[in-house]
Amino acid sequence: MAEVIPQTPVPPGYQLRSEELVPAGQAATVRLARGQVLQLIDVQGQQVADLMAWRLADPAEAFSPAHTVSCLTRLVPREGDQLFSTRRRPLLGLRRDTVGRHDLVVPCCDPERYQLDFGLDDHPSCLSSIQAALTASAETWTPRGELAWNVFMHNTITPDGHLVTEEPTHGPGAHLELEALDDLGLVASSCPQDLTPCNAWNITPVALRIFSKG
Ligand SMILES: [Zn+2]
Repeated sequence: MAEVIPQTPVPPGYQLRSEELVPAGQAATVRLARGQVLQLIDVQGQQVADLMAWRLADPAEAFSPAHTVSCLTRLVPREGDQLFSTRRRPLLGLRRDTVGRHDLVVPCCDPERYQLDFGLDDHPSCLSSIQAALTASAETWTPRGELAWNVFMHNTITPDGHLVTEEPTHGPGAHLELEALDDLGLVASSCPQDLTPCNAWNITPVALRIFSKG
């Protein structure tokens, strides 16, 4: 059965330009022109989506979770915040966030995570999915685990400094709305982590909608 992408509000003054389903455990690339708006949507709920972004004018400059945390002096951005690059340039504006729980501390999952922590040599990972999506779309942006925003990831830092991953609590149709403040290349991954509570033990699709000023 074809997956139905939940309805989301059209940003006032914008028109839908395209939409794409990212199948469970896979990734997809998109290009955004400055001023366009991207909605990153969880189709079924409790799913983490890993997001990376690069400046098309100079893809050596990428969205950086660490620089964003430093610029905002907050561990998690809020609606109205900007998201910053490796050179502290604002790349995206967070217009809307129906969840409010995300991780900008840990890298996305990678083959080494599954080898070292679970003894698995062939488990899917966000980094592998992202590299496959970039190759399939002939984009040459360089992915690195630490460039990923772990969108909707329900991590808590305890008073004694431990990082604990809990099941996300958000439902179908939860979404982020991001405005491109520059011409950008982006990739989004449906995280295939099924060995921790990260995705509530069930890997499901995410979706991307792009809107342009109407
Ligand atoms: Zn992952």
